[in-house]
Amino acid sequence: MSSKHDYYSVLGVAKSASADELKKAYRQKAMQYHPDKNPGDKAAEAHFKEVNEAYDVLRDDQKRAAYDRLGHTAFTQGGGNRAGGGMGGDPFGFGGFGGGGMGGFADIFDEMFGEFMSGGQQRGQGGGGRGTDLRYNLEISLEEAFKGKPAQLRIPTSVSCESCNGSGAKPGTQPVQCPTCHGHGKIRAQQGFFTIERSCPACGGAGRVIKTPCPTCTGTGRTRKERSLKVDIPPGVEDGTRIRLGGEGEAGLRGSPPGDLYIFLSVKPHPLFSREGADLHCRVPIPMTTAALGGEVDIPVVDGTTTRVSINPGTQTGQQYRLRGKGMSVMKSSHRGDLYVETVVETPRNLTRKQEELLREFAAESSSNSPESQSFLGRVKEFFDGLKA
Ligand SMILES: [Zn+2]
Ligand SMILES: [Zn+2]
Repeated sequence: MSSKHDYYSVLGVAKSASADELKKAYRQKAMQYHPDKNPGDKAAEAHFKEVNEAYDVLRDDQKRAAYDRLGHTAFTQGGGNRAGGGMGGDPFGFGGFGGGGMGGFADIFDEMFGEFMSGGQQRGQGGGGRGTDLRYNLEISLEEAFKGKPAQLRIPTSVSCESCNGSGAKPGTQPVQCPTCHGHGKIRAQQGFFTIERSCPACGGAGRVIKTPCPTCTGTGRTRKERSLKVDIPPGVEDGTRIRLGGEGEAGLRGSPPGDLYIFLSVKPHPLFSREGADLHCRVPIPMTTAALGGEVDIPVVDGTTTRVSINPGTQTGQQYRLRGKGMSVMKSSHRGDLYVETVVETPRNLTRKQEELLREFAAESSSNSPESQSFLGRVKEFFDGLKA
């Protein structure tokens, strides 16, 4: 790290630039100088590193304040070794980005370069062999989503080999610098006008080769194992919630950082409740007599209790009762959603003779008990009269 440029001028922004302006400028510059777009261009590569370094500092409020006060001296200690393990000898350094030491950089990097990094090439495969991210699908019930749940996951995965501590070299021996690429992990080949750079075939891009492989893992530094992991599913999770457990993915190749574990949650459909965010809906059938006379109905609540609801006389199908705070729990909050009870008036079937008699008697007594039916009949009459006119 010789003479350093001012971080603001590296990104081409004013000292007063907002976070958005910084991000935008960073994105633009990083695209411009990205090694994939400038193969073999040492100047672009240097710019690219500079841009990343500048953004890494300025995006962080505390680091930015320190930089504003002290300039580059604020970071002289951290300046040379920020990239952590995977970057040594790898000129493009993608291997290092995933491995910590760069703060949240890996995440924005993914977000921005996801498009043209995709094509089967994953972050971290360049030099270090960062472990693969794992996806674990976990289905839970609505009650579990309400209460939260300690879940015991059994994950078949690669773990760091215990015999060689993940180095891949037989215990007592060390990996040596790859003679083909001299530790760079990449080799250059002339193809027409172009210099093509690619992963060294002798060491698979690691920069080091193993003379005497560890017998347990045959030199890969990893072994297969079923790992058991306890995860607390927080109350209020929704269908499709993704939980990221950093570093719980597959072990990296030969001591490189591990990948992440993503838990994809799905919540099973419930026989009583349907969910709409924090609110729950429950369709409750009530007997025709209760609907007409009014009464009380016990309503189930997702927390396992019941709550009594007074049904007003003359209740119709589709009428909603809102029970505040009886819905789902909300993630990272003490708030609870509401429970909406929707009544479905049930017409009695299979009447006994006596019941039938009573109802006929009731019908004979009825005059203006069904205003909606009557007004509907009125509108029907108007409709047909209108057709005739
Ligand atoms: Zn081993
Ligand atoms: Zn090599």
